[in-house]
Amino acid sequence: MSSDLDRNIKQRIEESQSCLIISHVRPDADAVGSLLGLGLALQNAGKDVQVILEDDAGRFGYLPGVNAIRQVPEGNFDLIVIVDCSDPDRVGQALADYRKPDLVVDHHKTNLQFGTYNVVEPDQVATAAILFDHMPAWGLAFNPQVATCLLAGIVGDTIGYRTPNVDSEVMRKSAALMDLGADLAEIYREELVLKPFSAVRYWGSGLDRIEKDDGLVWTSLKVADRQKIGYAGNDDADLVNVLSSVQEAEIALIFVEQSQNEVKVSWRARPGLDVSGIAFEFGGGGHAAAAGADIEGALVDVKEKVLEKTRELLANQKKN
Ligand code: 5GP
Ligand code: MN
Repeated sequence: MSSDLDRNIKQRIEESQSCLIISHVRPDADAVGSLLGLGLALQNAGKDVQVILEDDAGRFGYLPGVNAIRQVPEGNFDLIVIVDCSDPDRVGQALADYRKPDLVVDHHKTNLQFGTYNVVEPDQVATAAILFDHMPAWGLAFNPQVATCLLAGIVGDTIGYRTPNVDSEVMRKSAALMDLGADLAEIYREELVLKPFSAVRYWGSGLDRIEKDDGLVWTSLKVADRQKIGYAGNDDADLVNVLSSVQEAEIALIFVEQSQNEVKVSWRARPGLDVSGIAFEFGGGGHAAAAGADIEGALVDVKEKVLEKTRELLANQKKN
């Protein structure tokens, strides 16, 4: 059963030949999986497709089509699609020279609906799961490569089916993607189990500084840590998942220094708490259980400000 929105999108796709798809800076598995899953399906439908990420996606070498990803789009496009981004800033510079996107596909509660058509479903576990639901109505077919990309998005955003929004429907979608040719064990291993030696050493720097009080557990990672260890990314190497496994942590936070004047903050909250609002107030966004923001300021200052606000939020949300 397809809606008017689906029919409009299908028509828009049919009328287009050159397609641009972009996802967010510091890409995760849902960003890359949704980007490539949609990109490969459009390509299989005979379209010319450019898939763009501003930051390196080297960690996702196991995904089909990953080598086609470029940093900067070239040329003109009939169709511009943004996946897994709640606001245009999160796209980075790639959209700077182009018009408003024709289609935004996303599952963030904080999405600003910045496309001509917006398929925004905050109840879904991943943008990849939204694509799985809608692509048939848009006239786009699955194959083993597309299925692999979409299942990677679901596995990544649910941290291997561990988030409270995982229901039997998510398992049925995942089973369908496996039937279409996706290898769950391989995706699980590549996405969640294997880490480069440098990432685990980098965790060590963060774990060395871990702190807790009043239901909060946090740590920071510095530019100097990455330089010393030779960790190539500018992210937390998923250390936040380790922090949020600390029993005492009702909210876990990680502060990743980007420069002397910029810090990336991630929040993770136990079921029943909502950190999307605080991330939004700090200029970011996300979900109730997982949110983030890029905040201007030195690490010590951002840490102090964010911890204070997060303590207030925890106290308020526990009252209600
Ligand atoms: P993470 O903490 O892993 O970077 O992100 C957690 C969630 O918050 C993800 O769903 C991510 O898309 C969202 N998020 C993280 N950073 C930002 C940001 O700077 N802006 C927005 N809008 N969302 C973010
Ligand atoms: Mn996502």
